[in-house]
Amino acid sequence: MNCKICGEKAYVVTQTRGATTLLGAGAGGYVAATAGAKTGAVVGSFVCPGFGTVIGGLLGVLTGAAAGAVAGNTIGKLIDDNVLRIWKCGTCGHTWRAA
Ligand SMILES: [Zn+2]
Repeated sequence: MNCKICGEKAYVVTQTRGATTLLGAGAGGYVAATAGAKTGAVVGSFVCPGFGTVIGGLLGVLTGAAAGAVAGNTIGKLIDDNVLRIWKCGTCGHTWRAA
């Protein structure tokens, strides 16, 4: 892509990347933690009703949050790479946002 001001070659700057990645990790972690708690509680109840239900639920939150953060992080990175591109002209320093 070329600069809209002077017409010289522009490049993608990466300093604004990461915000969507963090947002994706948080959202993915929350969804997976909720689902993980339910699954863990069911498994814990089967192994040891009562006490096992609580421990299983906690373990489910931890494993679910970790898995969800990875999935959300991947989705966030895709959005950052494809949508939030900031271009900068190497000649005049003009920056702009492009899809
Ligand atoms: Zn320029």
